[in-house]
Amino acid sequence: RFLSMQAPRQPSIGRFTGKPDHATGKYTVSFIEGDGIGPEISRSVKDIFQAASVPITWETCDVSPILVDGLTTIPDEAVKSINKNLVGLKGPLATPIGKGHRSLNLTLRKTFNLFANVRPAKSVRGFKTTYDNVDLVLIRENTEGEYSGIEHVVTPGVVQSIKLITRDASERVIRYAFEYAKAIGRPKVIVVHKSTIQRLSDGLFVNVAKELQKEKNFQNIELDTELIDNTVLNVVMNPSKYSDAVFVCPNLYGDILSDLNSGLSAGSLGLTPSANIGDKISIFEAVHGSAPDIAGQNKANPTALLLSSVMMLHHMGLNEYGDKIENAVLKTIAASSKNRTGDLGGTATTTSFTEAVIDNL
Ligand code: NAD
Repeated sequence: RFLSMQAPRQPSIGRFTGKPDHATGKYTVSFIEGDGIGPEISRSVKDIFQAASVPITWETCDVSPILVDGLTTIPDEAVKSINKNLVGLKGPLATPIGKGHRSLNLTLRKTFNLFANVRPAKSVRGFKTTYDNVDLVLIRENTEGEYSGIEHVVTPGVVQSIKLITRDASERVIRYAFEYAKAIGRPKVIVVHKSTIQRLSDGLFVNVAKELQKEKNFQNIELDTELIDNTVLNVVMNPSKYSDAVFVCPNLYGDILSDLNSGLSAGSLGLTPSANIGDKISIFEAVHGSAPDIAGQNKANPTALLLSSVMMLHHMGLNEYGDKIENAVLKTIAASSKNRTGDLGGTATTTSFTEAVIDNL
């Protein structure tokens, strides 16, 4: 192998039960191409998968928002496709600010109960940032907290947003974090919280973690709890302190801390992948948005979506293909700065980068 892997292999932990088609031997995967740069980076993934002979057929889904009684939903066809295939890859979806439809990303997470957002952040060899030894894994609760969407105007000039934490949602994501740590061989789970202030809500999250750690299954995994302000300081000062741990966080802290991790490891959101995991269904996506400023200009870096597709392949047990594509992507970035797209200081276009990755397969 040319390089070490970009992140721990996404473990399946029995959560993917899809089977390949009898006649073709291929799996079907739902594909949401997304907005802005979505179609360009999706093309790159499809071309590289074809060149690597990955046994996958894509089923393209339209997720144009539909408003039903003021609530945002997605077309039935897309819901059926994802329910059938149990796995999806998605490009970025734009959200209008303050008005119009609600976030489709949130809608997808809620529709399919994708309760755990997995965000690995590892330094990319050959591309220099502040630190060259970052190797962080964060799992974010993906369905509630400040993202419950319960907001109202109390009186003009006064609004209230509810942070909702439940035992059930806390338990399933923390259980997943323990299972994940065990599967990738990290000895420690760290719950990141602010229960000194949010005593009941974050307090519940921390207590559930302490209860779970007592289960026989998880007794070999150490449990630490840290206040979010301590964690951000420590991560910025010395990220390698956390190379043996898996963070698990309530929704908002996870959202913010994971971007900090990405910034430290990669220096660009154009490199960071993620997984949204449910009991049976999982959807993989780049962390970045639709980048409207560079859309349609052949400038977008497809790496984050490619590394998300690698997480998907590992999740599906197609490790050989996942390793092959990951290796080719990292080799391409490391080989020379001119191979890289503009966000990494290079001059490559989306298509020339894609061709270079195919050459390196
Ligand atoms: P963004 O991530 O789209 O862009 C931020 C900056 O990073 C821009 O300068 C952009 O050009 C650059 N960038 C992002 N991805 C890149 C890539 N692959 N290659 C090269 N450069 C890249 O964030 P934003 O501008 O705040 O959001 C734009 C839209 O995306 C908004 O509508 C937002 O709601 C949406 N969004 C969607 C998701 C998602 O689908 N998961 C995530 C974040 C934002």
